[in-house]
Amino acid sequence: MQTPDFLPCAHCGGTGTCRNGNAGDSCAVCIKKNKIEGQAPTGLVCSVCLGYGAIEPRTVRLRNLIAPVFALLIVYTALGLAWFFAGDEHFTEVLAFAATLIGSITGYYFAGRNKG
Ligand SMILES: [Zn+2]
Ligand SMILES: [Zn+2]
Repeated sequence: MQTPDFLPCAHCGGTGTCRNGNAGDSCAVCIKKNKIEGQAPTGLVCSVCLGYGAIEPRTVRLRNLIAPVFALLIVYTALGLAWFFAGDEHFTEVLAFAATLIGSITGYYFAGRNKG
C-alpha cells in the first residue's frame, strides 16, 4: 500500500540527515539552520523535512481533517467484515486483513496527530 500523504524528502533522500555537502557532510543551508556552534558539520538534521525524512504536500492538511472520520469508517468496516465472516473458513484471513488495516489506519492517524 502506498502512502501518498508523505513524499520522501528529496534533500536528504528520506533519511532525515543531510549529506549534501562535501564528503558526506551536511550542506551549508542545513549547517546554517541548525546553528550549533562547534558541532561538526556532519550528519546534521535535514532542514527541509526537519529530520522526518518525508514532507507533507499541502493537500494533507485538508486530508487530516477528514482522516479521523474516514479512519473510523474503515475500522468499523473492517470489524464488520470480521464479524460477517465469523465462522467462515476464510475467517482467519479476513481477521488478519482487518487487523492489518486497523493497525495501519490507527498508525497513520496517530502519526498525523503527532505532527499536528
Ligand atoms: Zn530531508
Ligand atoms: Zn542540507
